[in-house]
Amino acid sequence: MTTPSSPAAGPKSAAAFERARRLMPGGVNSPARAFGAVGGTPLFIDHAEGPYLFDIDGNRLIDYIGSWGPMILGHAHGEVIEAIVQAAGRGTSYGAPTEAESQLAEQIIDAVPSVEKVRLVNSGTEATMSAIRVARGATGRDKIIKFAGNYHGHVDSLLVAAGSAAATLGVPDSPGVTPGAGQDTIVLSYNDAESVQQTFQQYPGQIAAVILEPIVGNMGCVPATLEFLQTLRDVTTDDGAILIFDEVMTGFRVAFGGAQERFGITPDMTTLGKIVGGGMPLGAYGGRADIMDQVLPAGKVFQAGTLSGNPVAVAAGSATLRLLKNDSPYAYLDMIGDRLAKGLDHAATAAGIDHCVQGVGSMVTLFFHPGPVHSWNEAEHCDREMFGRYFWGLIQAGVYMPCSQFEALFISRMHTEAIIDETIAAAERVLSQLA
Ligand SMILES: *Cc1c(COP(=O)(O)O)cnc(C)c1O
Repeated sequence: MTTPSSPAAGPKSAAAFERARRLMPGGVNSPARAFGAVGGTPLFIDHAEGPYLFDIDGNRLIDYIGSWGPMILGHAHGEVIEAIVQAAGRGTSYGAPTEAESQLAEQIIDAVPSVEKVRLVNSGTEATMSAIRVARGATGRDKIIKFAGNYHGHVDSLLVAAGSAAATLGVPDSPGVTPGAGQDTIVLSYNDAESVQQTFQQYPGQIAAVILEPIVGNMGCVPATLEFLQTLRDVTTDDGAILIFDEVMTGFRVAFGGAQERFGITPDMTTLGKIVGGGMPLGAYGGRADIMDQVLPAGKVFQAGTLSGNPVAVAAGSATLRLLKNDSPYAYLDMIGDRLAKGLDHAATAAGIDHCVQGVGSMVTLFFHPGPVHSWNEAEHCDREMFGRYFWGLIQAGVYMPCSQFEALFISRMHTEAIIDETIAAAERVLSQLA
């Protein structure tokens, strides 16, 4: 049984990590990849195909990260790769408009109920950063409400109580974020409708926007209740504040039109990333036309990008959305997501482990906590040490789960029922040795 102190990464990954650590902070270009939450050495990836990752030591792993969300069609999908190759052959960037951008904009507007106009950017972080600026510009108000445990990228004003860091009111999670950057950010508890109503009573006409993940993926999978979303819709409408759904993770994931389609609640603005770029760097923000027309050059809110609407990224995103629309995977993903959730639940019950399993479609989390988990207050009490041993046990069994208790796993349409059952069998073996 592997423990965090004797990680299962092979000798080539270990050597690659040594080298990378001399060259990049922590050896990575994004912190979660360093396996800090589970200890040990990260696996270095050679290539990926369908539901599998292949590391540089020659191990094949069933992938439940999917690049943290984008790879809903599986890795290296033939038609997406073909679209990328075709686009790249015509030049990789022009800094001038293309028809392909309008094509992708049309696909997004067609799919996502709240989006009447859209702007393409390069990442989810850029999308949320820009949406907040537009909401403030459009309303002439400063304050925003966010929820503890919701992650919206590394935007200064949103890096308060963002996921695993301490959920303290208005105190930034990172050195380098000034108190000023967070002072107009009000942090409330997720799924607590009453505190939202009270905050609007306390600051009438002063709150520009409420931003949230309608289904949180960044504290493990924690869905909003319908009542919570309905309250947010009502109070923001009454007060003239802008409701922003951050669907960077849930967009094109829990339904083609995202969580807003699944819940039947339409926000004023939506942020997108991950799947919308088909595995290339692309994000988007959009919403009501009157709000989006505040953006330069139609309006006065500044937002720009040298590589925004990049033709290669647009080609990957456009091909991905076309495939998702023409051959909808969502009923299948709901079915196998449910199968995996039930299997993990049975396995943990059989092992006598305190746990709960939460999921929506192809987003699933096994919490090492009896649950249910509605907010960060509950999520933070999970047994993270046990999670670390679970994670490494599964790596040894050839299953690559997210390397943190506070990240949802993602299933792709290339994960067959047989692969799901193989995963459940591996989890049964690993969990039975943990208790
Ligand atoms: C991933 C994520 C982001 C940030 O997107 P990046 O492309 O990593 O900048 C923002 N919001 C949510 C909900 C996310 O899951």
